[in-house]
Amino acid sequence: MLSERLLIIGSGPAGLTAALYAARADLEPVVISGNQLGGQVSITYEVENYPGFPQGTTGPELVELMQKQAERFGARVVIDEVTEVDFRHGSPFAIKTYGEMYEAQAVILCTGASPRRLGVPGEDLLIGKGVSFCATCDGFFFRGKDVVVVGGGDSALEEGLFLTRFADRVRVIHRRDSLRAGETLKRRAGTNSKMNFVWDTVVEEILGNGRVQGVVVRNVKTNATERWPTDGVFIYIGHYPNTDLFRGQLEMDDRGYLIPGPHQMTSVEGVFAAGEVQDPVYRQVATSVGQGAAAGMRAERWLAERS
Ligand code: NAP
Repeated sequence: MLSERLLIIGSGPAGLTAALYAARADLEPVVISGNQLGGQVSITYEVENYPGFPQGTTGPELVELMQKQAERFGARVVIDEVTEVDFRHGSPFAIKTYGEMYEAQAVILCTGASPRRLGVPGEDLLIGKGVSFCATCDGFFFRGKDVVVVGGGDSALEEGLFLTRFADRVRVIHRRDSLRAGETLKRRAGTNSKMNFVWDTVVEEILGNGRVQGVVVRNVKTNATERWPTDGVFIYIGHYPNTDLFRGQLEMDDRGYLIPGPHQMTSVEGVFAAGEVQDPVYRQVATSVGQGAAAGMRAERWLAERS
């Protein structure tokens, strides 16, 4: 059993920023990476709205810099996943990972969120065989091909635009007739000749035998269904928070987002939360970084008051 003052669960912008602040306060925090080192932004190609990068940057570059900065002050990033937590008995908390048992005086939860699935036939079977939630990871395999993107938010447009680098045609299928995405992305997508929009339409089935070959779509206004051949289905219909591990131990809303009180403290003293795991609204790198900084500072103060 390893004994730590502060354990941070999750290595996205919130977790790495909490680690930076805690490390600068000499807490030698341990960051458990989770299954995606760097979190969601590490699989985002372009980041244009994080301050300090006037020309934009890439997700992997940004989180690599954040990790290096936290490590420079003594944070330790461990590639591992948490499998069990016990917050029921107060501090010190017991945390089990695949590789280790920890006891931590304080914990910051930065487990983020994961992409939602459509829940239609064919989707689960064809993940990795043409169904994807990550254009940055898989776009390259669709050079010269036809793909569809499902969703009408910023992610659908941003990732759809990225796919136009490779695919010959990118059809964005949206369930309404107006986009949720912001104006800049809307403008760019609207003027990209490889991108088309299909309005008022939902995907009802993904077709393919070992590889995506098409989709069944339904127009929600006319109820007409059609089968369209396509090579890839990229799904961007929002996220759900990664809080399964904390169910029954911490207060959460009906969608499963943690509800922190003042200063990022959850319903258990000494357990803090930052980033998308507790933010269904803003969900930006910039806001996650701010929440991570607050959680790191507050955890340090909480530990100091107790000792
Ligand atoms: P989002 O804004 O929640 O958009 C999800 C989209 O999926 C919506 O258009 C929604 O339709 C649609 N949808 C939801 N459930 C569906 C279903 N079952 N079937 C079909 N369509 C469905 O999610 P997001 O695009 O991932 O963005 C999340 C947050 O990250 C947002 O705050 C966004 O601004 C931010 N973000 C920002 C950037 C950027 O600034 N560059 C890039 C990516 C993400 P409705 O519109 O009808 O609800």
